[in-house]
Amino acid sequence: MLGTMQDVPLLISRILRHGATIHARSPITTWAGEGREPRRRTFAAAGARSAQLAHALHDELGVRGGDVVGTCMWNNAEHLEAYFAVPSMGAVLHTLNLRLPSEQLAFIIGHADDRVILVNGSVLPLLAPLLPGLPRVEHIVVVGPGDTGALTGARAAVHDYEDLIAGRPTTYDWPELDERTAAALCYTSGTTGDPKGTAYSHRSIFLHSMHVTAAEAMGLTLADLTLPVVPMFHVNAWGIPHAVFMSGTGLLMPDRFLQPGPLADMIAAERPTHAAAVPTLWQGLLAELAERPRDVSSLSRVAIGGSACPPALMRAFEEKYGINVRHCWGMTETSPVGTTADPPPGLTPEEERPYRESQGRFSVGVEARLAGPDGTFLPWDGTSAGELEVRGPWIAAAYHGGPGGEPERPADRFSPDGWLRTGDVGVISPEGYLTLTDRAKDVIKSGGEWISSVALENHLMSHPLVSEAAVVAVPDDTWGERPLAAVVLSDPADPADPAEATEATEATYRELRGHLGERLPRWQLPEHWTRVDAVPKTSVGKFDKKVLRARYAQGELT
Ligand code: ADP
Repeated sequence: MLGTMQDVPLLISRILRHGATIHARSPITTWAGEGREPRRRTFAAAGARSAQLAHALHDELGVRGGDVVGTCMWNNAEHLEAYFAVPSMGAVLHTLNLRLPSEQLAFIIGHADDRVILVNGSVLPLLAPLLPGLPRVEHIVVVGPGDTGALTGARAAVHDYEDLIAGRPTTYDWPELDERTAAALCYTSGTTGDPKGTAYSHRSIFLHSMHVTAAEAMGLTLADLTLPVVPMFHVNAWGIPHAVFMSGTGLLMPDRFLQPGPLADMIAAERPTHAAAVPTLWQGLLAELAERPRDVSSLSRVAIGGSACPPALMRAFEEKYGINVRHCWGMTETSPVGTTADPPPGLTPEEERPYRESQGRFSVGVEARLAGPDGTFLPWDGTSAGELEVRGPWIAAAYHGGPGGEPERPADRFSPDGWLRTGDVGVISPEGYLTLTDRAKDVIKSGGEWISSVALENHLMSHPLVSEAAVVAVPDDTWGERPLAAVVLSDPADPADPAEATEATEATYRELRGHLGERLPRWQLPEHWTRVDAVPKTSVGKFDKKVLRARYAQGELT
């Protein structure tokens, strides 16, 4: 027997209409830099402007269903307008990660076949040099002030965003699409090989966004003002832009002001209640606040994910600022929210800690299993470590645009029965809490045993002498691989005398080894140590271990 309910497609246009009418007054504030008044808009105004943008794209630029429209933009109100206009009219939004190396940026524009690109004026110097190699890009729409001189000679027609949308109708007859239609394209950062594109459907975004608003994920309400520091070009800013149009939560958009100083200023001035970002960004904010305190008391919750949240960072937020940290795990291929770390009920704060420091429990739409080294599935016993595989309505089933334009299912990423192989290694407790011990490619394989680089890093970063630490495997004749710890010291000043300086550094390493020795088995302790000024970061602010390994191989780190 079939259910007797209406079969209404889950479309982005429904989220748009809902937000722009039911939550018409909710605010979108875009930060404009120190001493400048932020740009303020309501959801109703953004909804009207989305309709105007859709008319402009359709009537003026000839965009039709299935065409790909790229955005090379920061987190701002106009980017949000594109987020809604492009998929709602049946086209596909391709958020370009503007921090990718230029050859990768050019690759993904070409691979996705972007015909139109909306670009913030400040990003033009990055995009303009690529355009001569991208003949299929027909239109460049410049959003906000910028030096359009860089575009002289570009084959594409150049438009100004405000001029393009001005005077157009503020409503649009959004088409009733199949909910499985592609709505947005997002590429991984291509740490190995070319970036791979995940094409989210209207349905997957709708369901994922509902989950993001839910109490068990970000718990976004009408009373909240959320600050998505995570860029809108990084997995749809974790679903927040769509989710707020469901929940009516106000949006504080940082635009390009993502440095700790401006972030602290905007928190103090605009008083968000919730924020989301990767750990490295929060480390920077804590250091900034220690140096120049600001009032961040409005913030009650922050979502931290994208890489493991060091327990010391969680504690610092909670103990110094009373901000509750919610750790979450996900990836481009999982839309991204796959787990969130809430403790079970009835525990003391100290008993809650291990649960909250884990990657957490799986979202309602996500099923999980652990594949052991021989391919058998492992029990959820909290000790058997294997590769995490997931499936669900917002998990990728393939990559976009393989050979011949067909979806691509590489065997290392998709199992024969259709589960996503995450490349993350971990354990799952009997209560269903995931603890990741490493990425498959970062784990240190020493004498047939695995050493978790994440555990070493977390313990190092809990020591007051260390502000950041990354641990990578280096080749070893006896053991296969051994850990190298690259540390950034909190107080990097050295004694003037070189001999004394060397001795001070050695003493620091001894101290850190002792600290680790109290917490981990001796055979796991690094014998290779190096000091770095900063841990290299990827385009989305995660530790870039590939760079560290390469620097070691070239003899730069000893
Ligand atoms: P990329 O693969 O290019 O880094 P993603 O943003 O898709 O881009 O990264 C997803 C990966 O980030 C996950 O597979 C996992 O290794 C890591 N990750 C994300 N969240 C966490 C977390 N909370 N703890 C540990 N690792 C995480």
